[in-house]
Amino acid sequence: MSDVAVAGGGLIGLATAWRAARRGLSVTVVDDSPGTGASAAAAGMLAPVTEAGYREEALLRLGLASVQRWPAFAADVEAASGTSVGLRTAGTLVVGFDEDDVRELTALHAFQTELGLAAERLTPRESRRREPSLTPRVRGGLLVAGDHSVDGRALHAALLVAAQAAGVRLVRDRVTELRVVGGRAVGLETADGGALAAGTVVLALGAHSGRLPRVPPLPVRPVKGQILRLAGATDLLEGTVRALVRGRQVYLVPYAGDRLIVGATTEDRGFDPTVTAGGVHDLLHDAIDVVPGVSELELVETLARWRPGTPDNAPLLGPGPLPGLVLATGHHRNGVLLTPVTAEVTAELLATGVLPEVAAPFTTDRFGR
Ligand SMILES: Cc1cc2nc3c(=O)[nH]c(=O)nc-3n(C[C@H](O)[C@H](O)[C@H](O)COP(=O)(O)OP(=O)(O)OC[C@H]3O[C@@H](n4cnc5c(N)ncnc54)[C@H](O)[C@@H]3O)c2cc1C
Repeated sequence: MSDVAVAGGGLIGLATAWRAARRGLSVTVVDDSPGTGASAAAAGMLAPVTEAGYREEALLRLGLASVQRWPAFAADVEAASGTSVGLRTAGTLVVGFDEDDVRELTALHAFQTELGLAAERLTPRESRRREPSLTPRVRGGLLVAGDHSVDGRALHAALLVAAQAAGVRLVRDRVTELRVVGGRAVGLETADGGALAAGTVVLALGAHSGRLPRVPPLPVRPVKGQILRLAGATDLLEGTVRALVRGRQVYLVPYAGDRLIVGATTEDRGFDPTVTAGGVHDLLHDAIDVVPGVSELELVETLARWRPGTPDNAPLLGPGPLPGLVLATGHHRNGVLLTPVTAEVTAELLATGVLPEVAAPFTTDRFGR
């Protein structure tokens, strides 16, 4: 019997397990294939400001709370694991190409200024001074110095080491259903026929969180994203570059020496794992439009995974729909950014029974019953 059983060993499940173990709880994580879900695809942007959507102010506040925690969180994971997580603090440049894109940048800047967020308009020349590999066709830029990035896969590997070093037990098995006795979650059933008893169960199955038998229906759905990894990009970019290419969004995120991530599509296609010719074409076409040197790079990986989407694009945190069940899911396009704050508030809830104020707007009762 564990104090806590965590279903899912992606970034969210592992970070939560690690933090809970640090609070003195006995924790077991169950995942048949840890680190192969959305966490394997993530570009690793820690970008509350450039990701901020209109009418998403509550999510923005949570993102800002998390990005503030990132430097200490990264240092802590690195100290506990002995490996780097590749935190980059060079900021993010958003650029536009035609009059419509520049109008959109102006609107975005006005929205950010209204919310008191730090962002600086750059001329085309200033944009290219910062990122000399940008095409001369850039018509304007917006520099967000506080939006950073991390190497998501390195982070997952480090969390796996840190969590186990803190005493977390990892069971490599598939969860088949939630164990419920007398209306209370009491553990997990697994594919090998085993049952894991626990005082509290944390649901952290990413996009699969809405489909675990005996969990009451949750508004989590898969939002497909295709993403590319390229090699040979040494010194190509200083920091993340995001662009509006004739109204379509693309981002380029440098990581690990000579590597570059180009992402991502957003598609409503259920759990479709297909990497399509059209998806790869559009991403490469737009990335090469923004940074022509991308055409010389080696395309080393293509991947499609599913963001855990919710109706308001914000996570589900805190007490679940059954006693004994805690939610840490629905992080949609911000799961890497929100890893530190999610782990912290969930561990606090597990250790003390109190959900910190910062997470209060994200409980599932905001959607009604
Ligand atoms: C293309 C793409 C780009 C992205 N870019 C960014 C970004 O730049 N910044 C950012 O902050 N976020 C980004 N995201 C979002 C981010 O990846 C997710 O929000 C985050 O990874 C969610 O983490 P998770 O641990 O909840 O889910 P996952 O990483 O999906 O982990 C869930 C785990 O549950 C396990 N699992 C599922 N079902 C079962 C079962 N029945 N039994 C046992 N185990 C099971 C899986 O094996 C998996 O390990 C991106 C996502 C995509 C798809």
